[in-house]
Amino acid sequence: MSSDAPVLKLYNTLTRVREEFRPLDPAHVRMYVCGPTVYDYAHIGNARPLIVFDVLFRLLRHLYGAEHVTYVRNITDVDDKINARAAERGISIRELTEGTNAVFQADVAALGCLPPSVQPRATEHIAEMIAIVERLIASGHAYAADGHVLFDVPSMADYGRLSRRPLDEMIAGARVDVAPYKRGDMDFVLWKPSKDSEPGWESPWGRGRPGWHLECSAMSWKHLGETFDIHGGGIDLVFPHHENEIAQTRCAFGHEAMANYWMHNGFLQVEGEKMSKSLGNFVTIHELLHTENFGGRKWPGEALRLAMLRTHYRQPIDFTVKALEEAEASLRRWSAQAGEASAEPGVSGDVLNALADDLNTPLALATLHELDGAALSGALKLLGVDLRAYVRWVEAQTREAVDVAKVSALIESRLAARAAKNWAESDRIRDELAAMGVALKDNKDGTTTWEVKR
Ligand SMILES: [Zn+2]
Repeated sequence: MSSDAPVLKLYNTLTRVREEFRPLDPAHVRMYVCGPTVYDYAHIGNARPLIVFDVLFRLLRHLYGAEHVTYVRNITDVDDKINARAAERGISIRELTEGTNAVFQADVAALGCLPPSVQPRATEHIAEMIAIVERLIASGHAYAADGHVLFDVPSMADYGRLSRRPLDEMIAGARVDVAPYKRGDMDFVLWKPSKDSEPGWESPWGRGRPGWHLECSAMSWKHLGETFDIHGGGIDLVFPHHENEIAQTRCAFGHEAMANYWMHNGFLQVEGEKMSKSLGNFVTIHELLHTENFGGRKWPGEALRLAMLRTHYRQPIDFTVKALEEAEASLRRWSAQAGEASAEPGVSGDVLNALADDLNTPLALATLHELDGAALSGALKLLGVDLRAYVRWVEAQTREAVDVAKVSALIESRLAARAAKNWAESDRIRDELAAMGVALKDNKDGTTTWEVKR
């Protein structure tokens, strides 16, 4: 890290304060973020952590060097929701998870997110999960009962440190799964038996499958080690998911911490209401990009990303059509401004300082209007807002809207007019096409090619 770089401060859910970020190993910064359960398309609430932690990934790469940062985001491809959905649709689990993951990867790319360093799949880490369960049983933190293995919550003296929930609330939350094999109300499943029709793996406790929390403990261990720097996710994951990840990893490996910094993005609402299927305001990223289901039109991924970054990641966000329109207006303005820049983009100190202050993206965006073309490009690159991708999107939309048959017919007429030396008619047709957004190029061999202009 260079000496003139700003001090990175991050709000840590574990301590409830903004702390200076000190990686365990400055030559290898390690971050884990909970990824999707690939049973259905990701919704715009899921888009928020993808974008927020991508900005953090970019910032860490900028500060420590791209080759010194490892970002792991898992793919949960074994889960009861997956089993249920595959059965409902009459397809195999493999077909469901592969198809959903392909759409997810296309969605995140459209949002301008860099691929994480590693995207481990849960089904490829079953051996690590079994190893963690065995360690927990050996150290007295877990017990097998009735084909299940449960984590013994009272065996961990400081369980609940992350969420700081009152005990009765945690018990009430855990009581959702009442089962005769549980010793304590709060004990949670590490491993459970699978029926023949369900996916399962051989284990010391019979054929079964992992609990969701265990998957993240196994994948972070495999790819980042027993203790690492940053663990991220949505605020809704604090309890029980992250609390249970911490319990498993700490008790399996005997360390004070699973990760030193726990970061959580705030909730997302749509047009002032909680997003839900029953309210009819449930929007997937895929729909927003490829259909006219939100605000009656398609939106570029860059507008979605920018609309998200206008709110600080810890604040609740109200996602609206108006916010997307405003974001797109900024993109249009910046494209015109940055298009003229030729210099190598640098990153302004103001933008870097804002981001280093617990990812203050609204402040970083507010400083952009003071920047010239090259500095603007550099700042937007660090925020992951790709103006060239936006311009390509606009051109593709315009091309889609052009009637190709009509363009071809007009070009034929114009060639005929030129052959007859009727220059006035030739010019008139050129103007008509220009009004449609079509620019002509007359080639030396007498042919005419065309392209769509913004
Ligand atoms: Zn997780």
